Amino acid sequence: MKDVAPREFNGPTERIKKGLLIVYTGDGKGKSTAAYGTVFRSLGRGFKVAVVQFIKGPWISGEIKSLEKFGSQVEYHSVGEGFTWDTKDLKKDVASAKVGWKKCLKLLKDAKHDVYLFDEIIYVLKYKFLTLEEVLSGLNEFKPSLAHVILTGRDAPVELIEWADLVTEMKVVKHPFQKGILAQPGIDY
Ligand code: ATP
Ligand code: MG
Repeated sequence: MKDVAPREFNGPTERIKKGLLIVYTGDGKGKSTAAYGTVFRSLGRGFKVAVVQFIKGPWISGEIKSLEKFGSQVEYHSVGEGFTWDTKDLKKDVASAKVGWKKCLKLLKDAKHDVYLFDEIIYVLKYKFLTLEEVLSGLNEFKPSLAHVILTGRDAPVELIEWADLVTEMKVVKHPFQKGILAQPGIDY
């Protein structure tokens, strides 16, 4: 189907309501930015949002500070503290990932939110701390049909891309890091 502006859309007039599985992947900056952009758009619509952050940075990010302003409209969890990444302690990393995924499944089962963001979960898949099978089968079984789920991280597996309804791949054209400019508040965190 041709991609046209909503006002020019000539297809079936009856809207199909479906909770989307959205994937933001690729090696360019903008995956979490796009995900939080969608979260804030949803919050503006009065939706309830749950966020599970799989890799906890050493600082409180701007997005957490903004989410706090929405009070009980948002539920936020961070599960990354346990990760070692250089697999010094693979068992601990796998255990942290499992705890995080259990949290995601509980949120989906409870079905109290309209939008779920599992930020950086695709890295956890990439490092094989969680299996693709457990994530896909969990989403299949527990994702509320009208709720939207957003997953972010580089190198989304092909099967996840096939499963998703919306996939955008961020491509690096330039990044300030290439000139030695480090992460900055308000832009990167
Ligand atoms: P953002 O949160 O800024 O949207 P992201 O979610 O696309 O970034 P992540 O892989 O989660 O990217 O990495 C987050 C951090 O890494 C950010 O500080 C971001 O600026 C930086 N980063 C992202 N892509 C690149 C890149 N291609 N080169 C260097 N640094 C990058
Ligand atoms: Mg990110």
